[in-house]
Formats: sequence, C-alpha cells, structure tokens
Amino acid sequence: MTATLATPLKIAPATLAKLAKIGIHHRADLLLHLPLRYEDETHITPITQALPGETVQVQGEVTHCEVMFRPRRTLVCRIQQGDDELTLRFLNFYPSQQKQLAVGKQIRAIGEVRGGFFGLEMVHPKCKAVDDETPLPQSLSPVYPTTAGLSQTVLRKLINNALESIPLSDTLPASLIERLDLAEFGDSLRLLHNPTPDISASTLETRSHSAWRRIKFDELLAQQLSMRVHHRERSKRVAPSLPAHDKLTHALLDKLPFKLTGAQQKVWREIAHDLTQSHPMQRLLLGDVGSGKTIVAALAALQAIENGYQVAFMAPTEILAEQHYLKLREWLEPLGIEPVWLSGSLKKKVKTAASERISSGDTLLAIGTHALFQKDVEFHKLGLAIIDEQHKFGVQQRLALRNKGKEPHQLMMSATPIPRTLAMSYYADLDVSVIDELPPGRTPIVTKLVSDARREEVFERVRQACLIGRQAYWVCPLIDESEALQLQTALETHATLTEIFPELRIGLAHGKLSSEEKAATMAAFKAGELQLLVATTVIEVGVDVPNASLMVIDHAERMGLAQLHQLRGRVGRGVAESMCVLLFQQPLSELARERLRVIYENTDGFIIAQQDLQLRGPGELLGARQSGVAMLRFADISEDEELLETSREIADELLREHPDAARAHLQRWMANKHDFLQV
Ligand code: ADP
Ligand code: MG
Repeated sequence: MTATLATPLKIAPATLAKLAKIGIHHRADLLLHLPLRYEDETHITPITQALPGETVQVQGEVTHCEVMFRPRRTLVCRIQQGDDELTLRFLNFYPSQQKQLAVGKQIRAIGEVRGGFFGLEMVHPKCKAVDDETPLPQSLSPVYPTTAGLSQTVLRKLINNALESIPLSDTLPASLIERLDLAEFGDSLRLLHNPTPDISASTLETRSHSAWRRIKFDELLAQQLSMRVHHRERSKRVAPSLPAHDKLTHALLDKLPFKLTGAQQKVWREIAHDLTQSHPMQRLLLGDVGSGKTIVAALAALQAIENGYQVAFMAPTEILAEQHYLKLREWLEPLGIEPVWLSGSLKKKVKTAASERISSGDTLLAIGTHALFQKDVEFHKLGLAIIDEQHKFGVQQRLALRNKGKEPHQLMMSATPIPRTLAMSYYADLDVSVIDELPPGRTPIVTKLVSDARREEVFERVRQACLIGRQAYWVCPLIDESEALQLQTALETHATLTEIFPELRIGLAHGKLSSEEKAATMAAFKAGELQLLVATTVIEVGVDVPNASLMVIDHAERMGLAQLHQLRGRVGRGVAESMCVLLFQQPLSELARERLRVIYENTDGFIIAQQDLQLRGPGELLGARQSGVAMLRFADISEDEELLETSREIADELLREHPDAARAHLQRWMANKHDFLQV
C-alpha cells in the first residue's frame, strides 16, 4: 500500500541500504526522520569574536593551503578576515577539498573553535566556497541522524522531496486539534524540517516549540492507541468464566486474623469481577511493599479453584516462591486444598511427579518459580495464572504458559512502585488496580543514615534489638554486579558478625545456597531460632518476617533507590517500632548523596519511584519489559508527563468516537513496527 522508497525517485541501491540502516524503509518514514539538532548558518561571526569551545560560522580568504606529513598527513589551511587569521585542519580529505581551499578563494567554515598550537583553529569544519554575493541562509539548517556514507545533503533532498509529494493530512479530527490547542501536523513537520527565520535554535533544541509538542503528542498517542488496540484484541479471546461462589473465598476470609483494608477490598472486587468474564483478565495489581497483595492473590486463586480450574502462582526467586508456597499452604490446607511445589532445583524425580500432578489435574494449585513455564509442564485445565513481581519476568515468559484448552486469566503483581506516568505508558495494554493503603497497626519505619566510621554504634544497636527479642537483617551489598564478590562479602560479614556477637544466633542467606538450605535458613529466621540474618540482596523481594524490626544495609550508597525501598520494606511489618540503618562509605558521589536523601525523606514508594525516574530516566526502571516495547523517539516520559496523560485519554476517545482517525494515526506511526504491535 505504501509507496516504496524508490518510487518515484531513482535512488541507488547502496543509498537504499543506508537508509534502511537508519530505519527508513518507506518514503513516509522520511517525514518522521526529524533533525537531531540545528546549525545556525544565518550569520557570520567575526574571527576576533570566536571563542574556544563555541561552534560558529566564519568567512575569510584562503591565504595558505598545504599538506603536511608530520605527525601525520594533514591538510592545513589558513583563512584571513581583515587582520585576523584562523587555521583549518583536516585529517582526512579529498583532492576536491584541497581544490576548494586553494589560496585566494573565499570560504565559509562552520565548526568548533579551539585553541591550537598556532592560535585559534577548527578541526574538520564544514566548508563552502562563496563569493561576496552568496546570500546567507535565512533560517536554521537541520542536522539529521545519519550513518556513514549518507550525507546531510542527500538526506535533506530526499526529505524535502517527501514533504512536497506526500500528503500531510492531519490524522486527528479538527475539533480535537482545536480543543487541545495543538499545532497542525503538516505545519509542524514542515517547520521542524525547515525552520522559519523567526525561530531560535534554543526552542527547537529543547523541544518546547509547539511543533515538537504536536509530534510528541502524536507519538505518545500512537503508542497508547496500539496498546489499547492490543488490549481490545485480547478481550476478544476466550477464557473460562469463573463466577464467584463465595464458599472457599469466604471461608478463608473468616479464618484470617485480620480484616482486609479498604484498598484490598476494592482491588479484590475488581479482580473477582474480571474472573467472571469470558475473556482473559489482564490485570496488574500494583501495591507498595507490605501492602498485602498475597492475600488478594490467594482469594483470586480460590475463586478459580471453586470453579474447578487450576491456578499457577509464580514468583521470580526461589525464596519468594517458597514463601508463597508456605503461606498459601497455611491458609488453604484447612480448606482442603493442597498446593504442589515446583522449582528448577528440585530433583528430577520429584519434579516429574509434580508436573504429573499438574497435567493430570490432580492438583488445582501449583506454586513455584519460572519452572512452571517450562516445556515439560502442561496444565490440565488452567484458569488463572498469578505472576508475582512481574517486572522481573520478560514479556515472552508471560506468554509462554502451556495450557490445554482456553486461555487463562492473568493476574500480575508488582511492588516496583512505578510512577503513574510510567504505568500508564507501559501498561496501557493492561488493566491496573492499585492498593494505595497499608494495613493498619504498622509503625512507621525510622530511617537513619550512618557513616561507616560509626559502624561500632550500629553493632550495638543490633545487639540491643536482638537481646530484647527482636530480629534483625544485615544486608550485604552488590559489588560490581559480581555474584562471586557478593558471596565473598556475605561470607566475610557473617564471620565478622559471628565474632562480634558470640551471644547471638546468626544465619546466612545468599544466592548460592541450595534451595533446601535457603528454605531451612528462612524458616529458622521466621521461627525466631535465628536472631540475626546476614543476607545478600536475595531478600530484596517479598520476604515477610513481622518480628524483624531492624535492618542494616551495608554500603547503601551502592544500591539503587528502588532496591533500597524494597529492602527497607522487609521491616516495619509488625507492631514493633522498626528501624532501617543505611550505612554508607565516604566520600559520596553527587548521585549517591541524592539517592540517600530521597530514601531518607520519603517512605511512599510511588514518590520514591517518581524521584528515581528523575534521577535515572525511565530506561532502568522498566527492566525486562522495556526490551519488548519500542522506545519513544521524540517524547520523554519524565518530561512530557502531561502530554502522556492527555494522549491516554484521547486514545480511548478516538477509538470510541473516531475509529477511522485512530486507524489512520496508527498507520502513519506504527506501519513499520510489527513487533510493537504484536507484543
Ligand atoms: P506485599 O504486598 O508486599 O506482597 P504481603 O502480602 O506479603 O505484602 O503482606 C505483608 C504482611 O501484611 C503479611 O504478613 C500479611 O499477612 C499482612 N497483611 C496483609 N493484609 C493485611 C491486613 N488487611 N491487615 C493486617 N495485616 C495484613
Ligand atoms: Mg509480595
């Protein structure tokens, strides 16, 4: 449908290949190949006023031009303007350039000025032969992202040709453009490719100009639309309807030692309703650490089980999965439900037995790690998949559940407090429920920042806490992302602390323990047999020991904000007053200081995430999911929050009221992004 790139132009195959390299496959792609920056050739700077470090355009007569051979082959020219001189230096040059720079010629050169051995010079300036009549351009010149062998001139010509020959009709209804006070699409594109003389480089470069605003909005809108469309497609698929019978769920609620919080009740109603539908639920349950997501997941599991369907409950680490297994067994066994445990580290025979119970339908609840996704595990009648800490799994894994029969409902949970803006952008294909309230009776965690020089005082605090019957964590840092080094630090710390506290029972948990050892250690800590647990960051997610009220995080300056927040969430789960000590080593980098300040001043995970986004940008926050999603080229979610929110609302409105416009918009923006549309 879209004209190929070469029609109606004659473009050499070599150029086509280069264009493909920078993502231009169709002529329409040229339109959205927008300048990276602009060069200001509209005026000439007198050589005397050119300052080192500045990029300027100068003009002068060539007074000297010579090829020097030492230290390497270099073309050196001098140009003169009045009494002032400037050296131009070229390390790679063609004979044609040498000719252009012959003595006596007038030259305009653009480049960065620097102080050289013989006074001011430019290295590899862009040069143009001129005479006294050559006019200066009236407006800024665009500089496009390109690749070796594809010149700005060629790109510019192709783009301008596309601008003239492809209709730039607006995809959005006029009423909407007016309501949102948007610039026209065609005008915006033309302006960004060929700025008018009145526009300054700074408004274009900071991307605050209304033309940029329009392009960013369109891009965000396309992203939202495609995810909403995807969401719709899924809602056309068939899943088993799992109506509430309120038998098992109510039996569990009656037995609980606590009442659900208002927020838990609200999200549970949303999930229970989704399960009654005959299309697959795709819901993300967001809730800060300790907000009580597990019980909600257990209720969802029971509603599926009540209907005779199987449930897979998955967690990213063995420690966490095991903890869910123990918790759910405690809650569900009294109701006559016996979960089966499946993890990669099980002995082959045990694993085979477990998968047989799953494929025969003998068990209705399977809990485990990603081993549940493996090829040899086939569910008899899977109705619901629950995925904890879903950001640790990739998109692929999420879809790899093997099921006989209909598609299962999916409940994903995450404690990575994702800022609302990010959640909206990256989970627009999911329905989102948020638990925005912590269970009552928690005492707030006191956070202390302590320099490593005062380590002794921290030891004393640990001793005191343990002696009055509380428990403590001592978390060892991640060193250079190296597991081996982390292990070594953990072993050393364990040895040191054992020496310092001969009177305490101290355990050690790290990633290299076998799962039996890990489970045994965690169980002993949970039962209070161990008073102090030295651990690596393996305890980052989900470990729940309410009696633990003190956490020391060693070398806290090395950890990310989200990680610190997750770790800190391991304490403050009971009624005892809790404390988190962040031990840091001086001197602190600017970024580390800023991170520690944020974690010290805030306890709300969503605020912390928002700050994290500002400190680091969105890339790292998103982890695995990011790889499956086309990144934004023009918009920046940490800066364009407002546009993002608007685009989300408008996406729904467009799909509802102007489906043709939505289709045209997706066609313009997403025609090439097949993977994106398929995620
Ligand atoms: P997370 O959301 O981090 O997964 P958990 O589900 O592990 O949190 O819950 C944290 C702790 O809070 C658990 O000990 C859990 O039993 C307890 N809990 C959950 N809901 C409530 C509630 N409504 N009232 C009191 N305690 C609760
Ligand atoms: Mg949890």
